[in-house]
Amino acid sequence: MHTVPGIADLAELIRMSRRGVVFSGAGISTESGIPDFRSPGGIWTQMAPIYFDDFLASDAARRETWRRRFAMEDQFANAEPNRGHRAVEALVRRGKVSAVITQNIDGLHQASGIPPEKVIELHGNTTYATCLDCGARYEIAPLRAAFEVDGKAPRCTRCRGFVKTATVSFGQGMPEAAMRRAQEETLAADLFIVLGSSLVVYPAAGFPELAKRNGATLVIVNREETGLDRFADLVLHDGIGDVMGGAIGVN
Ligand SMILES: [Zn+2]
Repeated sequence: MHTVPGIADLAELIRMSRRGVVFSGAGISTESGIPDFRSPGGIWTQMAPIYFDDFLASDAARRETWRRRFAMEDQFANAEPNRGHRAVEALVRRGKVSAVITQNIDGLHQASGIPPEKVIELHGNTTYATCLDCGARYEIAPLRAAFEVDGKAPRCTRCRGFVKTATVSFGQGMPEAAMRRAQEETLAADLFIVLGSSLVVYPAAGFPELAKRNGATLVIVNREETGLDRFADLVLHDGIGDVMGGAIGVN
């Protein structure tokens, strides 16, 4: 293991802060083997996205959406929280971080032990599905088993509504409650730590900017440069597990 420059500075900023917020993107989950869908070569550059309106309008679009989702199920189902997730969990448990705002849909922050009410999911969650009409919850494994038998897009057993992963699709509005909570937490934070987001997807990427303008200390940990590096108080271009685990003393 190598020593990462800036870790001592990060540890000190965390020690000094009274109320931190973590903002996470794909980069924290790639260390768990979840692909970054938006990266060059990522799945969203290879396949045309299916928009929400098409999902509603077309049975073929619903089947294709589910075919793609089930094709990735082994990756999602087998992924486990990594050192970066564990470090964030420790910060929440110690009362240093009040909320985790995430662009990720993999549920790994909750799997690391963070109470679900402290995780704000801006793009929803793909580890389960809901009925778009009545909200009934469905687990992925039985939906997949049924799909492999009949090839049909799942329908709600209660109301026959369309069942869709609990994610925010292209063309679907941002979840209002999550956006509002993310804004409240951002404005209440004195330390805002970005982990593994290139900060290019708006409106999500607006939160670090808002935190900084509101007087919070802004830290960015990301392997590549981000659009807000010059704006941040501390930038570390390194692995999230090494940086956060090292700064907090979590393996
Ligand atoms: Zn229903």
